[in-house]
Amino acid sequence: MLTREEVISIFEEAGVLQTGHFILTSGRHSKQYMQMAQVLQYANLTEKLCKSLAEPFKNEKIDLVVSPAVGGIIVGYEVSRILGVKNIFCERENGVMTLRRGFKIEPGQRVLVVEDVVTTGGSVKEVISVVEQAGGEIVGIGVLVDRSNGKVNFGYPLQSLLSLEIESYEKEICPLCNEGKVPAVKPGSRNLKG
Ligand SMILES: [Zn+2]
Repeated sequence: MLTREEVISIFEEAGVLQTGHFILTSGRHSKQYMQMAQVLQYANLTEKLCKSLAEPFKNEKIDLVVSPAVGGIIVGYEVSRILGVKNIFCERENGVMTLRRGFKIEPGQRVLVVEDVVTTGGSVKEVISVVEQAGGEIVGIGVLVDRSNGKVNFGYPLQSLLSLEIESYEKEICPLCNEGKVPAVKPGSRNLKG
């Protein structure tokens, strides 16, 4: 298993954790922003992370890895490759998480649900209900980063490589806005590096 420090060092190397003045999708402001896609660009780093994520499930006789699109697809693929099993993903159709593309879960299959990041855990909960409805047996949930600060409860064992809370503020009381030095930007915008 990778240590917390090793995981953070991989994230920093890949630019997953960024420092600045950001407007989050919630509208809140933050000094930090996390973009997991940055690390998933690098197959070697993704392999290192997923080996560690798969480790606790190695002897659990997993049949199938299921992940939510889009964030979970690469992580689900890599974990399934390491475990030597099949992987599929759920995606939204008319707003509802579902299996498409002929993907199937057989009753009794031992399923590992995998996601890159959970905050409220909404997508993972929807995937859990897809697996339950199909009669799959959920063995556990594996995520690279748990941003819920331990608050999220899926009703199944949760393994995360890193538990991390990113501090954020209502924009009216944002200390960076008060300083007035750096304008707030939406992550991924062109001004990010400026
Ligand atoms: Zn601000």
